[in-house]
Amino acid sequence: MLGLGIESTAHTFSCSVMDGRGRILSDVRSAYRPPDGEGIHPREASRHHVERGPAVLDECLREAGVGMSDIGMVSYAAGPGLGPCLRVGAVMARALASYHGIPLYPVNHAVGHIEIGRLLTGLRDPLVLLVSGGHTMILAFLEKRWRVFGETLDITLGQLLDQFGRSLGFASPCGREIERLAASSSGCMQLPYVVKGNDVSFSGLLSAAVRAAGPDRALACRSLQETAFAMVSEAVERALSLTGKREVMAVGGVAANKRLAGMLGAACRLHGARFRVVPPRYAGDCGSQICWTGMLESDIGGGTPVRDALVRQSWRLDTVTIGYQAPLASRRPRSRR
Ligand code: AMP
Ligand code: MG
Repeated sequence: MLGLGIESTAHTFSCSVMDGRGRILSDVRSAYRPPDGEGIHPREASRHHVERGPAVLDECLREAGVGMSDIGMVSYAAGPGLGPCLRVGAVMARALASYHGIPLYPVNHAVGHIEIGRLLTGLRDPLVLLVSGGHTMILAFLEKRWRVFGETLDITLGQLLDQFGRSLGFASPCGREIERLAASSSGCMQLPYVVKGNDVSFSGLLSAAVRAAGPDRALACRSLQETAFAMVSEAVERALSLTGKREVMAVGGVAANKRLAGMLGAACRLHGARFRVVPPRYAGDCGSQICWTGMLESDIGGGTPVRDALVRQSWRLDTVTIGYQAPLASRRPRSRR
């Protein structure tokens, strides 16, 4: 069976078609870009999704070489995310499910990040670091739920990078530009380093970094990265000792950062744990993460009636009961890309 997944939690509108073995037939995206120096305006982002959504769906089906009549189920990101943006994807998914008479699966976006990571890294039972625009969490699976072993006490790692970048006038999202600039510096300013138990706090670091940033932007970017990534790596290392996991997986948009992967990899080597990062193309928000999670759910359930398929802006990952055999479900990943 082929599935269609729709992701629209924040700035990205994306659709993907996959088969039941985890092969990605297409994954098409369009991202809303706010003016330089500004963040995502939920209404403007949702307007982008309304305008671009139908073309993204068309292109996705065309790239996969299929029509809607070939699609056996549709999933959408039901939360967490920005309300106006979530609703665009949900409306499209409900309409397609109703019109074509196919089952509908509302998917938790954070579970989506984890499942596409497990599919593409082949890890079975990892300690997970989820670092994105909406999340900074360290997680392990136990008794049908992803349990939180550490998280941010305030803003996420993605928000730290994006808000800092915007203060320098960069276009959001800023993580990639910060990484590029940081790589050209070798210095490091001292900035607040706040790890509390297994949790991290970035808001003081953000204020201090914005204040300290001078004309040497590369130095400021490197200092921010070094400090924030060392904090996260310390928390991961502690969670690794506590849980005794043998595998660590980094997922979410910030996981695309090479320096972060380097630090995490070094920490894992010290503990004899395998470390894998989701491939960069699937680190950030994408339809495949939603499609694949919906397909896993379809193994055990017939979907959600259209009238009950709503959105939940603050749908926490650790409240989701996972019915399929999460850490054990293992299918061979075979991407066309
Ligand atoms: P997501 O919410 O999963 O789409 O992730 C988006 C976040 O990932 C944004 O905060 C981006 O700035 C961040 N991001 C994307 N690429 C990188 C990178 N190479 N390094 C650091 N952060 C990144
Ligand atoms: Mg995300």
